[in-house]
Amino acid sequence: MHLVIIGNGITGVTAAITARRLAPAARITLVSAESAHHYSRPALMYLYLGHLRYADVKPYEDWFWAENRLELVHAEATGVDTAARTVQLATGPALAYDKLLLATGSVMRQPTWPGPQLAGVQGFIGLPDLERMSRDTQRIGRAVVVGGGLIGVELAEMLHSRGIHVTWLVREARYWQSVLPPAESALLAAHIRRHGIDFQENTELGEVLGDARGRVRAVRTTTGQELPAEWVGVATGVQPNLTLARAAGLATDRGILVDALLETSAPGVYAAGDCAQHRQPPPGEVAVEQLWYTGRMQGETVAHTLCGHPTVYRRGQWFNSAKFFNLEYQTYGRVPAQPVAGIASFCWQHPNGKHLLRLNFEESDQAVTGVNALGLRQRQDVWEGWLREKTPIGNVLAQLAAANFDPEFARQHEPAIRREFTRQFPTIAVGKPRRRGLLGLQLG
Ligand SMILES: Cc1cc2nc3c(=O)[nH]c(=O)nc-3n(C[C@H](O)[C@H](O)[C@H](O)COP(=O)(O)OP(=O)(O)OC[C@H]3O[C@@H](n4cnc5c(N)ncnc54)[C@H](O)[C@@H]3O)c2cc1C
Repeated sequence: MHLVIIGNGITGVTAAITARRLAPAARITLVSAESAHHYSRPALMYLYLGHLRYADVKPYEDWFWAENRLELVHAEATGVDTAARTVQLATGPALAYDKLLLATGSVMRQPTWPGPQLAGVQGFIGLPDLERMSRDTQRIGRAVVVGGGLIGVELAEMLHSRGIHVTWLVREARYWQSVLPPAESALLAAHIRRHGIDFQENTELGEVLGDARGRVRAVRTTTGQELPAEWVGVATGVQPNLTLARAAGLATDRGILVDALLETSAPGVYAAGDCAQHRQPPPGEVAVEQLWYTGRMQGETVAHTLCGHPTVYRRGQWFNSAKFFNLEYQTYGRVPAQPVAGIASFCWQHPNGKHLLRLNFEESDQAVTGVNALGLRQRQDVWEGWLREKTPIGNVLAQLAAANFDPEFARQHEPAIRREFTRQFPTIAVGKPRRRGLLGLQLG
């Protein structure tokens, strides 16, 4: 069997490595345009910050691929003939395949305002963006970042680390409002401002203004405010990369449409990771998952199917984590941005504005349904267990220390968290806190 995989991001590479394990005799070819070898995309910002070198963000040594008989082709795939089962490449001969996996990732959503083509205006998705940004932000004093999500905060932090004044424009009334409840947005906005970022909510970019040489010189908001800018970072979102899928005539919507086995509309052709859209996601789940860990899970699952063991993709508990400057964020389970009927939401904040814990639970049986933690590190295995077992909120609060990475924090603040819970929900009993022994083991 010849398995051809397009894209060497986390999805494609996980599929290739898993397939090698499951099908030792298969021929496996990984095609990718961006880089010769796989690197960690979420680590891109650390290259700019100077914390890591390129070699550090490659999880596998360069010899790993040949050693595992994974053939690498550093080229763009320009077309697929699904009847003849061949992939055309921009350079080099076409590749014949028995099974094909598209793991083509995301591309930047194209801005609709005038000026995105000016020099010094760019998004931040891959290595070419890092190179441009490193070159174009040398010796500049002022930059503007547009769009409020996770890439926006990364750009703000990167620019700030080089002493560049950052104005960050967010169209919505509050930070990351499609994902975070208001208290989390407010805490983060204050935190971002404390780092010296000029963070402006309710502010929409109208136009980017250029100079005579075609370089950005300023931005104008929709209310007419003009802000000088020598560089503009566009963080207004990504969308599935459909170029190859469309060229191949596959069914697409927002992403490449796939069934529960991650198979596309063409037999023998699969899609996974950021580029895929589930035709029938389970109720309440998203159809397009654009996360590192879901890419890895989809890559692993589809490899089983590709190797002759049909396996339905099941994501399991929702999980995400990020860093806002030095503030950690983790979420497990479901914590909607807006209140939901039947779900109660408890929120505790430290008076210093640097720690927040939100616990959501069913009003009917008090089973915990999700957690948001800011400025606290929670253990994934503990939370997955509590969510899976539908643990009552009173028991979760009693055992909270089991999920906390930092025993000092637990000792200091968990009594206050429990007191605050009893104040907000006086009719719900909180179990007796468990004692903890050496190494944080529960004693009883
Ligand atoms: C700056 C940044 C920070 C992020 N941080 C986080 C984070 O902290 N946590 C998190 O969960 N997620 C994060 N993400 C999202 C995460 O990186 C993606 O969800 C994940 O990388 C998707 O993996 P993938 O393998 O599906 O696609 P990608 O990593 O996008 O890889 C797809 C590859 O396919 C190649 N390709 C596409 N078309 C072709 C073609 N026709 N021919 C050849 N090659 C092609 C592309 O060049 C690309 O290299 C971040 C994303 C960015 C951009």
